Amino acid sequence: MSADDGVIGTNDDASSCKRFAVDKGYWHDPFISLLIPKATSRKAPEISRGYYARVKGIQILIEHFLRMTNCNCQIVNLGAGFDTMFWRLHEEGLTPKCYVEVDFEQVTARKCHYIKSKKTLLEALSGEDSEIMMSKTEIHSGSYHLVSSNLRNVGSLESKLTACDVDRGLPTLFLSECVLVYIETEHTDKLVKWVADSFPTAFFINYEQVNMGDSFGEVMIENLKTRDCLLSGVAACASLDTQMNRFLTRGWTGGDAMDMKTLYRCLPQADLQRIERLEMLDERELLDQLLSHYCLVWAYKDTRDIGLHTISI
Ligand code: SAM
Repeated sequence: MSADDGVIGTNDDASSCKRFAVDKGYWHDPFISLLIPKATSRKAPEISRGYYARVKGIQILIEHFLRMTNCNCQIVNLGAGFDTMFWRLHEEGLTPKCYVEVDFEQVTARKCHYIKSKKTLLEALSGEDSEIMMSKTEIHSGSYHLVSSNLRNVGSLESKLTACDVDRGLPTLFLSECVLVYIETEHTDKLVKWVADSFPTAFFINYEQVNMGDSFGEVMIENLKTRDCLLSGVAACASLDTQMNRFLTRGWTGGDAMDMKTLYRCLPQADLQRIERLEMLDERELLDQLLSHYCLVWAYKDTRDIGLHTISI
């Protein structure tokens, strides 16, 4: 048992909620069933709508970045878990030059195993005649890389990214989706600053809890504690301002922070109407409460002035 076992387990929770929502038709993802078994328990409609907003919000920002750079860019997914973004982008013809996924080796080992055994997942990596190198815990191919590293150790992350031939001169998007909250703020502060110092043209997307100081937030914290997940970074989740300042005081030029209740209403209306017909929602208030305790924050540093400040929801 390691102190991080509970945190590693959060990947299974997130993955099974995503699989459940995809099976219900909230969004299109033909790859998720190749990595994640069918959810054994039913998820409440507000959970699936929350995941829908999370996945859509992140997808809108990432696609904007890819189109702006004509895919001549890199994406680094920190704490990627069993995320399928690489395959979804590949299906759309939006593969960046380099896509790196980072997680603990207990997680990357399982993901490696699934990728190796699923032809559809593997085929997307072998597109460019390049060799695929695989170990038990890591994969290196033309544009896709899966590496293990503890994000608390910036030195280790740096050498892993170097091994993936990450080019610091290229526009690079960093994504942390429900990850930083599990890491002590002293380490996430270093990580956020290291990215800004090392990548002159960069975009950072962070999704996580916010407004945790009220009674609903306290219940959320207690729930995670009972599953051995210490929310070490919860101090950074106090408000949207603290979320934004974490970036602005560590080398980032600008950005925005939106709670998910606000973001939900900004999503494309036709698709929102479609997903709202999928399942009956008993209490709209519960959904609003849940959404107002999560946020999407993005920050940019645009030395080459390619227009990163225009990326928004
Ligand atoms: N980003 C994925 C998603 O949203 O579907 C997974 C989210 S899951 C809630 C959190 C992930 O962060 C887990 O896969 C966990 O192993 C990873 N993680 C947390 N702390 C980490 C650390 N210090 N180093 C590497 N990975 C970490």
